[in-house]
Amino acid sequence: MPSTLLALNWKMNKTPTEARSWAEELKEKYAPAEGVELAVMAPALALSTLAANLPAGVAFGGQDVSAHEAGAYTGEISAAMLKDVGAAYVVVGHSERREYHGETDAVVAAKAKQAQANGLVPIVCVGEKLEVRERGEHVSSTLAQLRGSLADVGEDVVVAYEPVWAIGTGKTATADDAEEMGAAIRGLLAEQYGEKAADIRVLYGGSVKPDNIAEICGKPNVDGALVGGASLKVPDVLGMNDAL
Ligand code: 13P
Repeated sequence: MPSTLLALNWKMNKTPTEARSWAEELKEKYAPAEGVELAVMAPALALSTLAANLPAGVAFGGQDVSAHEAGAYTGEISAAMLKDVGAAYVVVGHSERREYHGETDAVVAAKAKQAQANGLVPIVCVGEKLEVRERGEHVSSTLAQLRGSLADVGEDVVVAYEPVWAIGTGKTATADDAEEMGAAIRGLLAEQYGEKAADIRVLYGGSVKPDNIAEICGKPNVDGALVGGASLKVPDVLGMNDAL
C-alpha cells in the first residue's frame, strides 16, 4: 500500500510573499500525520520561497512543465528548472490546462515523460465533463484520456481523477463514485505496469475539504486527494491532514 498523498494545488493564487507567510504558518502548526505525505503545487515563482520555508518533510512541485528539454520556448519552465529548486512533483494535464491551453493527451504524455527524465514525479490529471457523466460514459472516456496521457510514461507517476463538474463547484463526487473510477484506473495501470500498479497512487480531486476527505480517501482505490480551494488556508490544510 502506498502512503496517502495530500497534494495541494494553489492554481494561480499567492504571490511569493503570500506563499512565504503560508509556509511560515504551516511550519508553526503542522504535525505530520502517520502515513500521509503533504505536497504543495505552487506557481513557479513561489517555489524558491517554499524550498526555504516549508516544514521538513513537506514536498512541493510545479503546476505545469514544458514538454521540451530547453531552448527557444519563451515563457516556458523546464523540468530541470523545477528540479533545481527542489521540486519533487509536477502536475500535468490539469483540466484547466486542457480547457484553456488546448493541451491534448499527447502533449500531457510528453510533459510527463520530460518530468520523469528529470527526476520529477508527474501527477497526471484526467476526468470527465458533466455531459459525459450524464451519458454514462465517464469511465470509458476517462480511461481513454488516461491511456493517451500515459503513453510511454514510466511507472513513477501519480494519477489524479478530477471530474470537471466537481472542480471549484462545491459538488463532490460521492466516495463510491471516486472508488468506481479509482478501481477502473487501477485496472488500466495494472495492464500497463503489471504488479507495480499497486504502488501507484490514484488521487481524487474536486471540492475536497476537511469534512469530506476522510470518507473519500478511505476507499481502497483512492490513495489521496488533489485539493484546490481548500489548500489556500493553512487551517483547512491542517484539518485535512488531521482527518486522514
Ligand atoms: P477544488 O478543490 O477547488 O475543487 O479544485 C480541485 C482541483 O482542480 C485541484 O487540482
